Amino acid sequence: MTNTPVCVLGLGLIGGSLMRAAAGAGREVFGYNRSLEAVQAARADGFDTTEDLDAVLRRAAEGNALIVLAVPVPALGRLLAHIRDVASGCPLTDVTSVKGAVLDEVRAVGLLDRFVGGHPMAGTAHSGWAAGTAELFVGAPWVVSVDDHVDPEVWALVMNLALDCGAVVVPARSEEHDAAAATISHLPHLLAEALAATAGEVPLAFALAAGSFRDGTRVAATAPDLVRAMCEANATHLLTALDRTLNLLNHARDALSQDKPLTDLVDLGHAARIRYDSFPRPEIVTTVIGEDRWREELAAAGRSGGVIRSALRVRGSRG
Ligand code: NAD
Repeated sequence: MTNTPVCVLGLGLIGGSLMRAAAGAGREVFGYNRSLEAVQAARADGFDTTEDLDAVLRRAAEGNALIVLAVPVPALGRLLAHIRDVASGCPLTDVTSVKGAVLDEVRAVGLLDRFVGGHPMAGTAHSGWAAGTAELFVGAPWVVSVDDHVDPEVWALVMNLALDCGAVVVPARSEEHDAAAATISHLPHLLAEALAATAGEVPLAFALAAGSFRDGTRVAATAPDLVRAMCEANATHLLTALDRTLNLLNHARDALSQDKPLTDLVDLGHAARIRYDSFPRPEIVTTVIGEDRWREELAAAGRSGGVIRSALRVRGSRG
């Protein structure tokens, strides 16, 4: 099963890292990028890449490769339409930071049967082929969607790819992923932008800036188009998270303006951070993919911190 070839569409930070990691695990991997520059850079590093989308998809169809969409949300529609026309039978996954919006796009082109969403929770503020590394996903959570439609065999292919890249698999429903990603990824992007912009208006601030400012604004260095693409595609969940944060900050503001202590916000935040530090990560070992209620079982395990560290058994397979 892990011999399934991998076809990566988009050779930026994430697609390029995935290509390196999958190749390092001994997988046959080939890829496409729309700009010749990245294709040539990847070739120079010894990877099998092209800027010919039809050719790469024909090859994927012939080898029944697992196709990985590694482009930003606005680029998905065009690629999905090509996949439908040339390689509709291939198993399909993605790495996109939002899952609901991608499901809608995949459903709209009629490819839902072979699709299992994915999201490696790893990255840097840099973009493009040169920014990628084979180690990017080592030890990182990689969400694999357990929505009602997902096919056990495709799910196992995506799980194995994530494990081959050194990640731990977190099973989650797309809707729950998006609510969580809004709070731990998309909201931090907005807060980092606001923090950086605020400091940028204060004379001397950059001259004094140290760890707090660097850590709190790190993701503000991400390419603006990528930030907009993920935040705008998860607007509903992001609004809920943003409202909660604004509410907490407004309470803190009231306290400051009335000379009252900041206890509420600071205690709440401190307690949550301490809980995060000791959050359990039990290994999921007993679920058999494809057995009755396997999706519900995995979603519940993922919700309570469970991770898959080595491949789960698939119903009907040996071992
Ligand atoms: P990147 O900018 O490094 O790479 C994006 C790739 O998409 C490039 O190869 C680019 O050529 C290609 N692309 C862009 N627009 C395109 C278009 N219209 N048609 C065809 N190709 C196009 O970005 P990245 O960080 O690798 O992000 C790729 C995906 O990974 C995004 O969906 C993002 O949400 C997701 N992701 C990013 C991070 C992160 O930290 N950067 C983490 C996890 C997931």
